[in-house]
This record gives sequence, structure tokens and C-alpha cells, in this order.
Amino acid sequence: MAAERGHRVRLIERQAELGGQFRLAAGQPERGEIAQLLTWYQAQLERHQVRIELRREITADEIRQSGADAVILASGSRPDRDGFQRALMHLDRLPGADQDNVCTIHDVLDGSVIPGTNVLLLDDIDGWWPASGTALHLAAQRHMVTVATASEKAAGKLDNSLTGDTTRARFMKMGVEVLLATAVEKWQGNTATLVNLYTGDREERDFDSLVLACTNSPDTALADALADAPMPVHVLGDATAPRTAHMAIYEGRMAARAL
Ligand SMILES: Cc1cc2nc3c(=O)[nH]c(=O)nc-3n(C[C@H](O)[C@H](O)[C@H](O)COP(=O)(O)OP(=O)(O)OC[C@H]3O[C@@H](n4cnc5c(N)ncnc54)[C@H](O)[C@@H]3O)c2cc1C
Repeated sequence: MAAERGHRVRLIERQAELGGQFRLAAGQPERGEIAQLLTWYQAQLERHQVRIELRREITADEIRQSGADAVILASGSRPDRDGFQRALMHLDRLPGADQDNVCTIHDVLDGSVIPGTNVLLLDDIDGWWPASGTALHLAAQRHMVTVATASEKAAGKLDNSLTGDTTRARFMKMGVEVLLATAVEKWQGNTATLVNLYTGDREERDFDSLVLACTNSPDTALADALADAPMPVHVLGDATAPRTAHMAIYEGRMAARAL
């Protein structure tokens, strides 16, 4: 929108492709429309002659010296790796979360980690897409998938977008097991200690890998370093608080209109 309104725009991205975390969403089963949306954005950027620089990590010093009249920071968020669960507030981190057989849904979706056959997916986000879509992705890759969620309904968060029922049906068809009202208290070796949040009953079960689907943390490094920048800096999207793509798109439009 900034380019459409006549501004000269440079878009800098450290990855080889544009799209950020939404490109990971596009790789989940049956979510190809997201890839189409990203392709549409790419075409719009070319049409409005936005200068795109990929595989380039920009620093705060470079931004200060860039001569830009304004900066829009959409540096996003990153997955936490400590396995903190809202249902177990007394634990800062999941004991054992630092083991080699623990990874995040980002690691799975970007292909940097291939978990073992029998996977426990810790869902601390009420079955939202990063958790449920990754469970389906792993099941489609022939992993045995068990989801442990503090929620009382599988894929409950997807009811907001009317995709809860279809996702629960796909869980059943693909053999994804869901343990409701369950938190993971400990991960030791290959053994998870699962706790039922109603009864407090504990059960130990073995898995090859633990995949974390927990809340992200905003990437504020650039925003913090540019707090006293000589030009206006607009911070938006997950960099302010990890939320949704539509909030990032909306805030991007608002920032472009304010330039
Ligand atoms: C699997 C999955 C499924 C999802 N499904 C949905 C969904 O269905 N609906 C929905 O609304 N949201 C969904 N989301 C959330 C959505 O993807 C994010 O909220 C959204 O991508 C946030 O956009 P953003 O641009 O703020 O940040 P990000 O997507 O995190 O992008 C930030 C970008 O900035 C780049 N960057 C950071 N620092 C630098 C630097 N110094 N130099 C160069 N580049 C840098 C990063 O490489 C990254 O590409 C999903 C997320 C995931 C992971």
C-alpha cells in the first residue's frame, strides 16, 4: 500500500522467501489458499516496483544509516522453546524441554527437524492452526501423533473459523489421538509425565519426540535498538504481540496510510 500511494519502498527479509510464519501455515495440509495469497502479494509487490532484498538480515545501525524517511518494522515473533504451559503456571519451563528430542512446530514445518515415529505434540494454544495443522501434517507424513492439550475440546480454537468440525473429523480419520484437559509435567528421556487437569492423576507414556506448540514471543530486538532512531519507526504485527496474519496485514495497511 505504501508503494501504491507513491512512496519508494525497500522490503528486506532474512529468509529466502517472503511470507514469514504465514508461509509455514501454507505448508500445512489443505491450506494451499494461503500460498495463493502469498503469490498474489508477490505479484503486487512487483507491480508496484517494491525493491525486494531476500536473504538479508538488516541491523539497527544499517537502518539508522539508510536515509529512509520512515521505517516499518514487521520483525515478527519466534516460538518459545521452554515448553511453558498456561495450565502449569508454577513451572517457568517444562523440565526436559532442552533435550535433543524436543523441537517446535516451526522446526517441523520448515523441515529443519524430522521428529521420530511416535510424536507427542504439546498444544498450549487451544488447538489453533499452528498446533492442529502440524498434528495433521505429521499424521500425513505417517507419524503416530498424540496431542496433549489443556483444552476441553480438540481443535477448539478452530471453531472460530468454522473449521473445528472438519479438523476433528480429520484427526479421527488420520488416527490423531487427543488427550483433553491434559498438561505435560515432565519430559525425561523419552518419557512424558502427563497430568489430568481435573483429577490430578498422572500417567507416564513413552514417545520418540516432543513437539512444542506454545505461545510465541515477539522479536523486539530491532524495535528496542531503534527506540531513539532519527526517523519515525512503526512496529506492527507479531513484533508488537504474537497474534494473527490478519492483524499484521491490517496494521501494515494502517501504517502505510499514516506515512
Ligand atoms: C503454522 C502456523 C499457522 C498459522 N495459521 C494462521 C492462520 O490460519 N491465520 C492467521 O491469521 N494467522 C496464522 N498464523 C499466525 C501468522 O502466521 C502470524 O501472526 C503472522 O505471520 C505474523 O506476521 P508478521 O509479519 O508480523 O511476522 P512474521 O510472520 O513472524 O514475519 C516476520 C519476518 O521478519 C523477518 N525478519 C525479522 N527480523 C529481520 C531482520 N533483522 N532482517 C530481515 N528480516 C527479518 C523474519 O525472517 C520473518 O520472515 C499461523 C502461524 C503459524 C506458524
